[in-house]
Amino acid sequence: MPAPPSFDLQAHSVHSDGALGAAEVVERAAAAGVELFALTDHDTVDGVPEAAARAAELGLRYSAAAELSAVHGGHEDLHILGYELDVADTELIAILEDFRSDRARRIGAMADRLRELGFELDDAPLVARREAGKPIGRPHLADAVLAHPGNAERLRAEGIAGKDELFPPYLVPGAQAYVARSRPTVAEAIEVIHAAGGVAVWAHPFWDVHDRQEGLATLDEFVSAGLDGVECFYVTHDEDQTRLLHAAALERGLLTTGSTDFHGPEHGRFSAFRGFEVHGLTVDLGPIGGNTG
Ligand code: AMP
Ligand code: MN
Ligand code: MN
Repeated sequence: MPAPPSFDLQAHSVHSDGALGAAEVVERAAAAGVELFALTDHDTVDGVPEAAARAAELGLRYSAAAELSAVHGGHEDLHILGYELDVADTELIAILEDFRSDRARRIGAMADRLRELGFELDDAPLVARREAGKPIGRPHLADAVLAHPGNAERLRAEGIAGKDELFPPYLVPGAQAYVARSRPTVAEAIEVIHAAGGVAVWAHPFWDVHDRQEGLATLDEFVSAGLDGVECFYVTHDEDQTRLLHAAALERGLLTTGSTDFHGPEHGRFSAFRGFEVHGLTVDLGPIGGNTG
């Protein structure tokens, strides 16, 4: 068995929907043998200084990053990773704040819909996040539903034990309480990343687009918008999906990145660093891996 990869280029902290503080995420990554790391909180770079400082102390190579949620055509939830960002860039900071305000709007609208559907919600943690300027996402909303004792009987009756069962009927595109985000488009997200000196990578393509041909056609549209790389190697991608993306990336001259998308040690799916396969394929991390040539 080849050793697992020593890079892991997505992880989340309490600054978005992860369970641990930024420094602790880095410590866990280092303990798992990660040598090249990026914290990729949703629509914020607030955890980057703390994570970068801890990475420097522990001797990890670190790329300043964020994961931007974006819309494109009929797709309302595509994720574009920005690496090697200048996190002091005032335009970047301002635009991320604007993206987070759209998050707060849509989570508020989804909370209203859940109430109309008869659920009870404890707003306090959502309000606290909004007032602190932190990104609010559907996982926080799901927690508010799952934790309220007033919903226990109904959730049991509907066979909902956690997020994996709550999302499909209520919180995914087309589901009963879902409200779409309005901005940015993928092209705008790529532009924002480039303007802050970064490289733009399409995260986990087959998490969001299920059809292979559509995936490749969508990739071409993103390449036209300036995309620099694709996350071929991802914890939920199977070998066929990985090989397809890798071949497409080589044909198009794109970087080939990978991650386990750590959200916390107790997370059902995204909990183990270095838990993805590269299947012996070439990894090209370009500037993220320190290659400036
Ligand atoms: P948001 O930031 O509001 O778009 O929420 C996106 C997050 O919701 C993702 O990063 C996942 O952690 C989570 N998520 C999305 N789809 C599902 C699903 N079907 N089941 C469980 N969690 C999901
Ligand atoms: Mn994502
Ligand atoms: Mn992620």
